[in-house]
Amino acid sequence: MRETWPERFAETPDVLIDDHRGARRERTLVPVRDFAIGGGEFIVMAGPCSVETERQILATAEHVRRSGARILRGGAFKPRTSPYSFHGLGLEGLKLLAKAREETGLAVVTEVMSECDVPMVAEYADILQIGSRSMENYSLLEAAAQSGRPMLLKRGMVATMGDFLRSAQLVLDNGNSKVILCERGIRTFETTMRNTFDAAGMALLKQITHLPVIADPSHAAGNRELVPGLARIGVAAGADGLIVEVHPDPDRAWSDGEQSLDFQEFDAMMDDLAPWIALRERGRDRRHAAEAQALEAVG
Ligand code: PEP
Ligand code: MN
Repeated sequence: MRETWPERFAETPDVLIDDHRGARRERTLVPVRDFAIGGGEFIVMAGPCSVETERQILATAEHVRRSGARILRGGAFKPRTSPYSFHGLGLEGLKLLAKAREETGLAVVTEVMSECDVPMVAEYADILQIGSRSMENYSLLEAAAQSGRPMLLKRGMVATMGDFLRSAQLVLDNGNSKVILCERGIRTFETTMRNTFDAAGMALLKQITHLPVIADPSHAAGNRELVPGLARIGVAAGADGLIVEVHPDPDRAWSDGEQSLDFQEFDAMMDDLAPWIALRERGRDRRHAAEAQALEAVG
């Protein structure tokens, strides 16, 4: 007989939507300020790879808010592939993010790289981002989980689904159920794109876990021209939202400029996504109606 998902992922029972008896758990809604991730609303997180200057972050926040984003992204602590690249403004960057939140009402997601920094980052951020390079840093995961803040857990670039689910399980084991999974592309033999966007992995996560799933087309593509296409695929694969890099002048960005959209490109992507998001909502309505009917028939 075919192995069930609860059997296949027996090590991480709490992240799965079905328990080993086949009983279905409720989907997790992660509350952030006055909205939630994982419910009916498709949530867009947008902003620069790194916080650079006050002007840069405030202008970006204002723009993406007007175009429909709910959450401002921006790194103050940057894990980089090269030790000689820009590593972030640190505390000064956190303060600029908080200022942008004050001025726009956007929530803030930003990365925490070290367990020592968790209290400081948690003071400024609405959501703690755990980067791809930190996904298996269990002491960081524990400290971040214990802060009680929602967490955006990015898939490690060489992490299997099992590895990814184990990290999520560890956060739940530390008393924090506000976990958002993020597919940001994985390393494969293909090197034309920065990473390989794992659409099947995203669809699987939506099918077998109860946690919200967010697509990161920017780090998956590594190239701004591919970002809108991958964003569409994310919506179609069932994502609850997107995290996208946007910069006022991508060619001058201090990090990840080649994959960052400028304001016009971001607006074009948002327009292009609107019908796909509407379709997704129709699909959800139909599924909910079918579930309600099934429940009525039983009851
Ligand atoms: C980022 O979000 O800018 C980032 C560094 O992402 P990742 O950890 O997925 O590489
Ligand atoms: Mn980046």
